[in-house]
Amino acid sequence: MNIILLGPPGAGKGTQSQRLVARYGMRQLSTGDMLRAAVKAQTPVGLQAKAVMDAGELVSDEIVSALISAELESMSDEMGAIFDGYPRTAEQAHALDAILDQHGRSLDHVIELDVNVDALVERITGRYSCANCGKGYHDVFEQPRQPGICDKCGSTEFKRRPDDNEATVRTRMAEYRAKTAPILPIYEKRGIVRRVDGMEDIDEVTAAIARIIV
Ligand code: ADP
Ligand code: ADP
Ligand code: ZN
Repeated sequence: MNIILLGPPGAGKGTQSQRLVARYGMRQLSTGDMLRAAVKAQTPVGLQAKAVMDAGELVSDEIVSALISAELESMSDEMGAIFDGYPRTAEQAHALDAILDQHGRSLDHVIELDVNVDALVERITGRYSCANCGKGYHDVFEQPRQPGICDKCGSTEFKRRPDDNEATVRTRMAEYRAKTAPILPIYEKRGIVRRVDGMEDIDEVTAAIARIIV
């Protein structure tokens, strides 16, 4: 199973990916997470990407496609893949076709999380995650069961992303509209796009996705 989760920043791609990983043992391939790890480790890619990410612009197609390719390389053929935040441009969509082909994989579904853009700033400015295991949370919409303690790993350390501020979010949304939304027709032509209402509660969105992939 190979699926793409598509939607603007804050649509719920990461949240839903984490649930699919927990439920179906699939692997989440998030170029955002990979890039943040590279920035933290100060690799050459990270050093190059940091300023671009802080500005809310897109990192080069070559860099992100190389990250995806390397990640798939490390996976067994049987393991399902959830592409989260990739592809984001037509170039990347074509690169993904070639990469999947090399691994004998093909796309099953492109799941578009349909959201009202007015809700996204609130989602993103309230977003945080566990500093230890990466589990995502929200100040209002997804709080830990016990305040201050991660549900998944028990850590009490949390972090926020430097690019989760209102100004950067506006740039990221503009990038989505200009470069990412236009790739949908590529997949529509193949008949693999499925739309899910991303404005529902997190659990309902998960249920809608589960109905598509099982
Ligand atoms: P993306 O990966 O698409 O940028 P996230 O999954 O990180 O988005 O979600 C952004 C924030 O919104 C997170 O804090 C998350 O907890 C919250 N969130 C995700 N889905 C929903 C939803 N359906 N309703 C309310 N809040 C949500
Ligand atoms: P979100 O889904 O919340 O917008 P991501 O974590 O997917 O955020 O991405 C954070 C930043 O990392 C983006 O604003 C961009 O700078 C960079 N990035 C992530 N994935 C890609 C990609 N596929 N192509 C180009 N840049 C990317
Ligand atoms: Zn945790």
